Amino acid sequence: MPDAMVAARVSEAASGTTQQVDVAVVGAGFAGLYLLHRLRKAGFTTAVLEEADDVGGTWYWNRYPGARCDIQTIDYSYTFDPELESAWKWSEKYATQPEILRYLGFVADRYDLRPDIRFRTRITAATWDQAVERWLLTTNSGATVSCRYYIMATGCLSSPKPPEIDGVKDFKGEIYFTSRWPREEVKLAGKRVAVIGTGSSGIQAIPLIAEQAAHLTVFQRTPSFAIPAQNGPPPADRVALLKSDRASYRAQARDSLAGVPWPLSTVVSWQLSDAERRERFETAWAAGDLIYILTQLWADQGVDFEGNAVLADLVREKIREIVKNPETAAALTPHDHPFGAKRPCLDTNYYATYNRPNVTLVNLRQEPIKSITASGIKTDKRTADLDVIVFATGFDAMTGAIRAVHPITGRGGKSLSDVWTHGPQTYLGLTVAGFPNLFMITGPGSPSVLSNMAVSIEQHVDWVVDRLIAMREAGFTTIEATETAQAGWAQHMADCSTLTLHRLANTWYTGANVPGKAQGVMPYPGGVGPYRSICNEVVSHNMLGFRLTGPNGAEQCNDGQIVRLQPDVRLVLNMLADMKLPPLECFGAQGARDFLAAFNAARPAGRPVGDVVDGTLTVTGGSLPYRLYRPATPGPHPIVVYFHGGGWVLGDQVSDEPFCRDMCRRSGMIFVSVGYRHAPEHRFPTAAEDGYAATRWIAEHAADLGGKPGPVMVAGWSAGANVAAVTCQLARDRGGPQISGQLLVCPVTDCTFDRPSYNDNATGYFLTRSLMFWFWDLYCSPADRTDPRVSPLRGKLQGLPPAFVTTCEFDPLRDEGVAYAEAMSAAGVPVEQLKARGHFHTSMTMVDVVITGVSGRVQMADALRRFAGLPPAWREGDVGFRPSQVVAPHEIASAAE
Ligand SMILES: Cc1cc2nc3c(=O)[nH]c(=O)nc-3n(C[C@H](O)[C@H](O)[C@H](O)COP(=O)(O)OP(=O)(O)OC[C@H]3O[C@@H](n4cnc5c(N)ncnc54)[C@H](O)[C@@H]3O)c2cc1C
Repeated sequence: MPDAMVAARVSEAASGTTQQVDVAVVGAGFAGLYLLHRLRKAGFTTAVLEEADDVGGTWYWNRYPGARCDIQTIDYSYTFDPELESAWKWSEKYATQPEILRYLGFVADRYDLRPDIRFRTRITAATWDQAVERWLLTTNSGATVSCRYYIMATGCLSSPKPPEIDGVKDFKGEIYFTSRWPREEVKLAGKRVAVIGTGSSGIQAIPLIAEQAAHLTVFQRTPSFAIPAQNGPPPADRVALLKSDRASYRAQARDSLAGVPWPLSTVVSWQLSDAERRERFETAWAAGDLIYILTQLWADQGVDFEGNAVLADLVREKIREIVKNPETAAALTPHDHPFGAKRPCLDTNYYATYNRPNVTLVNLRQEPIKSITASGIKTDKRTADLDVIVFATGFDAMTGAIRAVHPITGRGGKSLSDVWTHGPQTYLGLTVAGFPNLFMITGPGSPSVLSNMAVSIEQHVDWVVDRLIAMREAGFTTIEATETAQAGWAQHMADCSTLTLHRLANTWYTGANVPGKAQGVMPYPGGVGPYRSICNEVVSHNMLGFRLTGPNGAEQCNDGQIVRLQPDVRLVLNMLADMKLPPLECFGAQGARDFLAAFNAARPAGRPVGDVVDGTLTVTGGSLPYRLYRPATPGPHPIVVYFHGGGWVLGDQVSDEPFCRDMCRRSGMIFVSVGYRHAPEHRFPTAAEDGYAATRWIAEHAADLGGKPGPVMVAGWSAGANVAAVTCQLARDRGGPQISGQLLVCPVTDCTFDRPSYNDNATGYFLTRSLMFWFWDLYCSPADRTDPRVSPLRGKLQGLPPAFVTTCEFDPLRDEGVAYAEAMSAAGVPVEQLKARGHFHTSMTMVDVVITGVSGRVQMADALRRFAGLPPAWREGDVGFRPSQVVAPHEIASAAE
């Protein structure tokens, strides 16, 4: 339908009447404009309601000196129309506010959007009328709008945070807010100016204000990290890349983590030398690109405390280099959050500005503001006489503009404010259970401020409008998220937050900047690409988590939770699925071993430990290789005898190297990984007997190995955990060696294959049921399978050493692991269990990839220390991973539960 015809169908509101439309959109920024364009094209009568008197949103309101975007402008643009892209040329790498505002005006004109936008109209309340299945919106003028669908495009950063200081109204000078900067020129020349706040807006404004003012006093409560923008024309290499294949450049951005097409970095900090890290850092510093420095230096900087600290220290060094006064430099240097956990700022001469004689920094941590008086600002230590105060105090982010429409009354008279008392709850960040036909663009729970928002906005708008079209075609008139889906999304959000370092900072991402606001990571930290694929999965799973209804009792509800895997597990499984590998069992035993060796060779070995020693130990009938990992701490250390995974067929003493190194570091113990013999060359009971004999040899040679003489512990993963479990039974029955504890990770414990986990997780989770059948066939004839030396669940369980048993939800072996733990416990063995939710068979051992396994590894290391009679180890980087209490025996100890 032509746009003009659609526009003609909108019944313009006469004063006092209710405007009737299919869709009401609130907000005429990036999101509202694109919504209007798409909705009109799709034939929906649409009204956009906007408080301001023109389009632009963020870029209408934030006119302060220095206001610019901090994502390169060629990326921070609409991409839905290639002709629009060709019709507009950005003049700078990071465009100024006036240029972005001109662009949005250009877009509004190009698609003739203004006729359907009611400016100077603020929505004050919204009520769902179940009888007619429509929303009634109330405006500040008293006029009302009735709509089937209500879409809040009200912005994440559009509700300014009021100053929290007494006396503002007593001040006789001029007061400005960066977020509501006047259109008229503000003259600061020759004046004594204060800026309160050093977030993004303050950092952009301060250098320019300092150039004009007679004196500038900056009041800083919390320093932010800032990197130089190195602004100029759009970088030739990025422009060339875009022009060489615009479609694929944009597609890469949509699938990326942050909405900018940089590749996924795989190298981790500890694989690089100091010099290499510094070189990468200097390149990033010179590049002047937030997304580059946040994603391209080393992969662990956003998820690992230590990897992050390396980068944060390099930035701190730069601050010290630039700022001449050491006291000022120290005050400007952030120490309270990891780099990137709070949005770093992009600056132009910010730090150097503090070298100017007309600039003073006041550290409010040392001298809090007491009051604002008629003539200036008083702190504990000084009085600053002022002509102008500029508040750069930020926003009530993510939820402020949504909650400012009050009340929003949903089904059954529920108020959104009540539902969100303890923090925002949404499904996909787009919808809320109990509020039918209400959508939020970039709402809490969507990638929003952790992304290039132009990309996120386009994705949201397309998804929402496509759903409305699909509903119309299917004859549905309402859509509402289910409670199950919403709770599942909250869980997934929490899982993603565990993965990143955002949880370690009190920021506006978590609501910490607004007194009394509920705390929690609000933007979706799982990445733009994964988020997009989840939204698409919702659709391909028949609108999973939504109830749709229509006339004559039409109803569809596919209730459920869209993501049950841990976020990094989901990524790994998707990558493996994309590789379309043939089943491992097709290669034959030697082929599978070669494949595994090649696969492992491409992975980093793991973090450094004190010492790695290869050796040979003697068993009946030959010798076995081993690799010993010694902690960097002074010994002698307790010894853990470790058995690798691989179905008794694959792997060797080095194949679980990253896991052994990680556990050696976390537990502070020597790990001796044993190269026991494999099937089909050495069938049952060779692996079991090798395991026992190796343990005996290691216990006898503990002192020679640099370990603590006395009892040893055993540990293993998968078939290696089977060997470890069997070793404990044999040691008990054969008079030693003494074993003080057993750590069994996803153990094989029984030859029964009809437990639910074998069926539920038969395929799709890397270890398949058919691969397990193949392993069993190669190792053990059916007649031998009930022997406790391969099915320890069938053995005598009394008198075994204390055990810690880890099982993973999406693992065929899950139920037999649980059964073994429960059976040992019933036999009087002290047992702790970790049931790792959302994990798969290899989660715990893919140390470098499955970061959400850290929680489990911390608990396993602590369990080993308890077996050895040692207190838990504490590392700063484990903050947030460590369960608050030491788990009691017999209790399920998953942090994820
Ligand atoms: C200074 C600054 C710089 C930024 N730089 C970047 C950047 O470089 N990259 C990036 O990705 N993001 C950036 N952002 C985030 C920016 O907000 C988004 O990129 C984007 O502009 C948001 O568009 P939007 O349409 O969703 O919301 P907004 O642009 O905020 O528009 C929302 C509109 O809704 C209106 N509104 C709200 N409530 C009501 C109501 N009740 N009734 C009527 N109207 C209402 C507001 O007046 C506003 O015009 C920046 C934000 C700021 C403040």
